[in-house]
Amino acid sequence: MSAPHPGLPATGRPTAELLTELTALTAGDLPTRGERVSAYVYDSGRPGVREAGHAAYAQMLEVNGLDPTAFPSVVALERQVVGAMATLLGGSDATPGIFTSGGTESILLAVKAARDARPDVRDPQIVVPITAHAAFHKAGAYLRVRVVTVPVDPATFKADPQAVAAACDSETVLVVASAPSYAQGVIDPVERIAADAAARGIPCHVDACVGGCLLPWLAEAGADIPPFDLSVPGVTSLSADLHKFGYAPKGASVLLFRDETMRRHAYYVCASWPGYPVVNSTVQSSKGAGPLAGAWATMQALGADGYRTLGRSVLAATRRLVEGVDGIEGLVVLGKPEAALVALGTDPAAPLDLWALADESRARGFFLQPQLSVAGLPPSLHVTLTGVSESGIEDMLAILRTAADTVRPLGPGTAPAELVALVSELDFTTLDDAGFASLLPLAGIDLTGESAGRMAGVNRLLDALPVAGRELMANRFLSALYSPHLAG
Ligand SMILES: *Cc1c(COP(=O)(O)O)cnc(C)c1O
Repeated sequence: MSAPHPGLPATGRPTAELLTELTALTAGDLPTRGERVSAYVYDSGRPGVREAGHAAYAQMLEVNGLDPTAFPSVVALERQVVGAMATLLGGSDATPGIFTSGGTESILLAVKAARDARPDVRDPQIVVPITAHAAFHKAGAYLRVRVVTVPVDPATFKADPQAVAAACDSETVLVVASAPSYAQGVIDPVERIAADAAARGIPCHVDACVGGCLLPWLAEAGADIPPFDLSVPGVTSLSADLHKFGYAPKGASVLLFRDETMRRHAYYVCASWPGYPVVNSTVQSSKGAGPLAGAWATMQALGADGYRTLGRSVLAATRRLVEGVDGIEGLVVLGKPEAALVALGTDPAAPLDLWALADESRARGFFLQPQLSVAGLPPSLHVTLTGVSESGIEDMLAILRTAADTVRPLGPGTAPAELVALVSELDFTTLDDAGFASLLPLAGIDLTGESAGRMAGVNRLLDALPVAGRELMANRFLSALYSPHLAG
């Protein structure tokens, strides 16, 4: 009885005690609710809606989506959620779709479907504007599909349809447009890109992961939203995340297809083992129906009117942010944001240290997500406005103003050249997690002490490194972070 086992309490602990421990653990996290939330989380600001999502999630938690014949509730719910999303996005309740765990999974499956639809192509490639989400690169890496990036218009940050068309060849299995892109929040010219692709028999995926649950309501609220959805000829698939502007709990996205053949290419089936036949629509096999039920309940609890009201508020907040930033010396908005995602860049005529600005802003309670420069596109700080942003928008602007005033006298920051050279010459293959962790203070990284959360030094260094160097650093950092050597 009660023999000790490392890693487990000798006897079970009470629920209340466990929940208290969780609350204590999250004390250092970014907020998940309220008007100071600016990336990662989406708050509808409606306790009743949140409660519906949570309760439905918990109620369906133990139902296993592995086998939809054993749990037909999963099929019924998924058909409702997919049907509602398709109807909102230029399809109908007969549009084929798949409920997935998130935008990345939707995109992985869209790329898999496009690849498998073309067994004749030996070295498949997809053509993506440089502003397309990293999930397409991840899909390329996981599925051994080449990712060809093409430049965007440097002033508008929108995809250049001619560049997309010019990069297509006989091995191209998919082209991509974003509605909107995550980094600058602008909508690519979907009609042109899709029409050009269709003329060559190439499928076109619209990444509306962040825009799918938002753009239709912004359009109703009077925003100028160009056609982007399944109603556009040539668009063959579309991804839209419910766990973003659908305000559903995390783990919820849909992938919609123009035709059922393409959906079948996304599926995975295996009968060559002695266990149950595997028939999967998603990457996961066993999976709780919680996220599906949570998304369904959130949509039902908000209703069209709820989304409409939140859309109007998001639009007002975005317009006010853009207008307010215009009055802050040294800070500019990149491009013309068309949704609720705003990239704050610096004015080349009066450059500010964006990374220092992010630290100052965070110290005042407002997190700005760093976006590094790449392929000639400038660095920026990301803000996503959600259903609760409007009431806090003047506070947000005040913090930005103060942070800008604080860092302005310091001028533009640059990473020390010796540090960049040192990191560039490091032999990472002989460096273990302990060794890597011990180098971090040299790069100004301190996760526990006084300056925890101050990331300017790291961001400056990463921004100065070539992409391959950044990726190596990030990989090693993640490994060290989960090792005992960085535990705070
Ligand atoms: C968020 C996002 C994704 C990826 O979604 P995850 O849910 O984080 O996997 C893909 N594309 C765009 C445009 C996004 O905003």
